[in-house]
Amino acid sequence: MIRTQPNRTRNILSQISTLMTAGAVALTASTLPAQTATPAFGSENPFYAPSTLPFHAPLFDKIKDADYQPAIEAGIAQKIEETRVIADNPAEPTFENTIVAMEKSGQLISRVMMVFNGVTGANMNPVLQKVQDAEAPKLAAMQDAIYLNAKLFQRVQKIYAKRNSLHLDAESLRLLEYDYQQFELAGARLSDADKAELKKLNEEEANLSTAFTSKLLAATKDGAYATQDKSALAGLSDAQLAVAAETAKERKVEGWVLSMQNTTQQPLLQSLSNRATRRALFEKSWNRAERGDANDTRDTIARLAELRAQKAKLLGYPNYAAWKLMDQMAHTPEAALKLMDELVPAATAKAQGEAKDIQALVDAQNGGFTLEPADWNFYAEQVRKAKFDLDESQTRPYFELNNVLHNGVFYAATKLYGITFKQRTDIPVYAPDVQVYEVFDADGKPLALWYCDYFKRDSKNGGAWMDSFVGQSHLLGTLPVIYNVANFTKPAAGQPTLISFSDVTTMFHEFGHALHGFFANSKYPSLSGTNVPRDFVEFPSQFNEHWASCPEVFAHYAKHYKTGEAMPAELAAKIKKAETFNQGYMLTELLAAAELDMQWHILAPGAPVQKPDAFEAAALQKTHLSLATVPPRYRSSYFMHIWSNGYAAGYYAYLWCEMLDDDAYQWFQDHGGLTRANGDRFRRMVLSRGNTEDLARLYAAWRGAEPAPGPMLKARGLEPATSSK
Ligand SMILES: [Zn+2]
Repeated sequence: MIRTQPNRTRNILSQISTLMTAGAVALTASTLPAQTATPAFGSENPFYAPSTLPFHAPLFDKIKDADYQPAIEAGIAQKIEETRVIADNPAEPTFENTIVAMEKSGQLISRVMMVFNGVTGANMNPVLQKVQDAEAPKLAAMQDAIYLNAKLFQRVQKIYAKRNSLHLDAESLRLLEYDYQQFELAGARLSDADKAELKKLNEEEANLSTAFTSKLLAATKDGAYATQDKSALAGLSDAQLAVAAETAKERKVEGWVLSMQNTTQQPLLQSLSNRATRRALFEKSWNRAERGDANDTRDTIARLAELRAQKAKLLGYPNYAAWKLMDQMAHTPEAALKLMDELVPAATAKAQGEAKDIQALVDAQNGGFTLEPADWNFYAEQVRKAKFDLDESQTRPYFELNNVLHNGVFYAATKLYGITFKQRTDIPVYAPDVQVYEVFDADGKPLALWYCDYFKRDSKNGGAWMDSFVGQSHLLGTLPVIYNVANFTKPAAGQPTLISFSDVTTMFHEFGHALHGFFANSKYPSLSGTNVPRDFVEFPSQFNEHWASCPEVFAHYAKHYKTGEAMPAELAAKIKKAETFNQGYMLTELLAAAELDMQWHILAPGAPVQKPDAFEAAALQKTHLSLATVPPRYRSSYFMHIWSNGYAAGYYAYLWCEMLDDDAYQWFQDHGGLTRANGDRFRRMVLSRGNTEDLARLYAAWRGAEPAPGPMLKARGLEPATSSK
C-alpha cells in the first residue's frame, strides 16, 4: 500500500483542532468582539432552519456568500445563550437537563459551520476568507464560554459524582465521562488562582506558537538555494529549471532559486547530480532555523517545552504528553513509546541495509565518498529505477476514475457491507464538478448521502480529506451527509480521467473515512462517527486502503479503459513491489520525528531549560535512532506540527493508526478476507461505534487481542527484529 504521508493526511481533525485548541486564545464571552454591522439574520437566511432537502442536505442552490457571517454570529450567540440557560437552571442538575441539553444545544452553529468548513476548504474565495478571519476568534471565545463556565462545570461534576447510581445506558455513561474529561482537561477543576495561571500560560503558549510560525516561515523562505551557475543545477529537468528561474524572477534575483519544502529531505535532491549542490541544499534545510539570526527558533521551542511541562503540572499530570494522551486510544505516553521501541530495530536494520546498497552503487560509480543524507535520494532513485521501476504511463490506462469508483471503491463496500449507491442529480452542489450519491443499507433503507469532489481547482486546498455536512445522531434524528475531496488532475473535455495507483489509494482512503461516517449509529452527536481521537481516526481510512490491492477487488476494477482487458500480471506485480521501496528509510525518519515529539513532551515539570541541539542528539541516541544517513523527517527547530499545529505529543498517531490498520487487515486475511460476515462484524463492533466505548477495549473486543506491530512491519516489507539475520 502506498502510504498517505503525514502531511497529506488532512481530515476532519484539521477543522476540529481549530476548535479544540481554541482554549489557547485569550478571550472569554465577556470580551467577545462587539457585533459589527452584519446583515440581520432571519427566515430568509438558508441556515435559519434545518434544510428541507433529503437528509437535510445543504441548500447550495440558495446559499450565498453573504449568508454565512450573519448565520455564524447568530449561531454563536444562540450557543452561548443556550449554555447560559443550562448553567443557570435553578433545577437540580440531571443527566437530561445538563448533559443531554448540551448535546441538543448549538444546532445552528453546527449547521452553518459544517457547511462553511466544507466550502472554505474546497471552494474558497476572498469574501469567505474575510468571514473566516473575522469569526475564528469569536468561535474560540465561544469554546471558552462553555469549558470555562464554572456553574456549568459544577453541574457536570455533580452528575459525574453520582454516575454509578444513575443507571445510565453505556453510551450515556460514556458521554458523561467524556464531557467531564473535556472540562477537566481544559482546566475547569482548578482554583481561580490556578485558572488565572493557566490562562497566562495558554496566552504565552499561543504567542510563542505564533512567533515560531512566523520565524519558521521567514527561515524557510531565506533557506532557499540560489545560484547563477547553471552547471550547479545539472540533473534538473527543463520544467524544474523553469520553476527555479521563475522563483528567482519573483524574488528579483539573477539566476535560479530552489525554494525549500517543510521536510528535512528536499524533493530536488533526487535529481541534482552535482554533489556540492546537494550538500549545500541539504545544509540549508537542516540548519534553516538555527542560524543565530532573528529567525532562529531554538529559544522559542525550549521555552514552549518548558511551559507545556508547567501547564501539565498545574493540571495535575506528570508531563505534557500524559495530559495530552488522556483522551486518546493509547491513553499514556508509555504505550506510544512502547510501540515505537518495537518498531525501531526492524526499521533501522532495514535502513542500514538500504544504506549499504546505496554505498555499493556509489562505489561502483567510483564516487569516492561516504554516503551522507544529502546523497540518499539521488542514489535511491537510481536503485528504484533499476529494481522497482514502475512506469505510470503504463498503469494509468487501467485506472479510469469512474471505473475505479464503481468497480473498485463501491464494489468492495458492497461486498463487505452490502451497501449500494445511486447517483442523485437533484441535490444541489457547491461547484459543478461535485457529484452526489445516495447510499442504501443492505436492507434497502436510506443510509447516507455522499458527495465527491475529486478535481483540482485554484480555490481548493491541497491534499485530500473527508468531512460531514450533517452528522449522524439518533437524538437529533439526523443521518450522515458526508463528502470526500481530492486534487486529481482534470482531463481535457471529452477525455477519460486516468489516475495513478497513488490516487486510487487516496480514493479508498477517503472513502474509508466516509464509511466510518455512514455506519455511525450513535445517540449523541459528540460521540458519533468520526468524532474519535487522533490516534484512531486514520484507522478506518487506512484500513480501507488495503482493499485497493486485495486481488479480488483489484481484478474487478484494474481494467484497460479502452479494451476492458485486465492489467497484465507483471505490471500488477510491479505495483506491489514498488510499495516496499525505501521503507527502511521512510519508517526510520518518521520514527525519529515521532520520538523527538514525544521526548520533548515527556520532560518533567521543573527540568532545566533544554538546549535544543544537545537535547535532540541525546533523544535520538537514547531511542537508537541516531543514524548518520537517516535524519528525522523534521528537526526540532522546524517541526511545525508539534510547536504550532496542534500535534504536540500526537505525531506518534500516524504510526499507531498504521499498526491498527495492518493488524486489522491481518484479521480479515485470517478469516476469509472480503466477505459480508467479516464486514458486518467489523461494522457492528468497530465502524458503527464512533467514540461510544473506550477505543482500546473496543478494538480488543473485535480483534480478540491487543493490536500488535508485526503485520505493519510485514506490510512495509520489514522483518520483525527477532527473525532478522
Ligand atoms: Zn485520512
